[in-house]
Amino acid sequence: SKVPSITLNNGVAMPQLGFGVWQVPDDEATKAVATALEAGYRSIDTAAVYGNEGGTGRAVASSGIPREDLFITTKLWNTDQGYDSTLRAFDTSLGKLGLDHVDLYLIHWPLITRETFVDTYRAFEKILADGRARAIGVSNFLPKHLERLLAETSVVPAVNQIELHPQLQQTGMRALHARHGITTEAWSPLGQGMGLLDVPTVVAIAHKHERTAAQVVLRWHLQLGNVVIPKSVTPSRIRENFDVFGFELDADDLAALAALDEGKRLGPDPSTFE
Ligand code: NAD
Repeated sequence: SKVPSITLNNGVAMPQLGFGVWQVPDDEATKAVATALEAGYRSIDTAAVYGNEGGTGRAVASSGIPREDLFITTKLWNTDQGYDSTLRAFDTSLGKLGLDHVDLYLIHWPLITRETFVDTYRAFEKILADGRARAIGVSNFLPKHLERLLAETSVVPAVNQIELHPQLQQTGMRALHARHGITTEAWSPLGQGMGLLDVPTVVAIAHKHERTAAQVVLRWHLQLGNVVIPKSVTPSRIRENFDVFGFELDADDLAALAALDEGKRLGPDPSTFE
């Protein structure tokens, strides 16, 4: 495959580019994931709360692609946090996906007041030990959440999936992850397609390379070392977002893009999100 792999801290290889399916209804997800798999994607990012594990699983099953060539991520939703409820929710997710294991299982949000993520993560460690997830990790964790997890549990999360794009570059989180061997995975990597793709700096770099703004932004992520999971339901864009291995941003491009950081969150702030 053209997609480079990132080796997670437990030795498991994860494709650096995958396909996200947030806000894609279940039946449409089957079509979108099938299109993505045909285009060459092998990593799919879903979540229990997206309501499309079933549609994702059906596309995977009918693709005929060997299971070992796929990398399937799903996430535990907030209301299922806690040891026993996590084990039950994981069974439900596997059933909907029609799989006997996932490649990566993530805690979707830390939930600041409920204080259940440590017990939840202990259930994740059992799922990992039982071979039903090849890697476990978290999403939307802030430094204080990661520090508590590292202090109170034994498996260092393989991944922290956080909002990250040129207008929210997460420099501090990326450095913290690097210190602990945690892979940074970028959600809303294209800034949800709003605004970012029209920023003059991005458009100018796209013209320079005869590429699209989306391709420039995805290249930026890849060259930074992020795992990236752009979403689209439009077949031409699904293919466009995968076609990012035939060019490279230079130092001037990277410097210009670095200057776009303005700490602009599009999604919820993990420090207040319940
Ligand atoms: P994104 O940054 O991937 O943007 C997707 C949108 O950008 C599309 O809906 C479309 O409007 C536009 N777009 C896509 N390709 C384009 C192209 N080539 N040209 C022009 N416009 C284009 O946003 P996202 O869906 O929020 O994030 C990607 C994935 O990250 C999600 O599908 C989901 O899997 C994951 N995610 C996770 C969390 C979390 O809390 N862990 C939160 C949000 C998203």
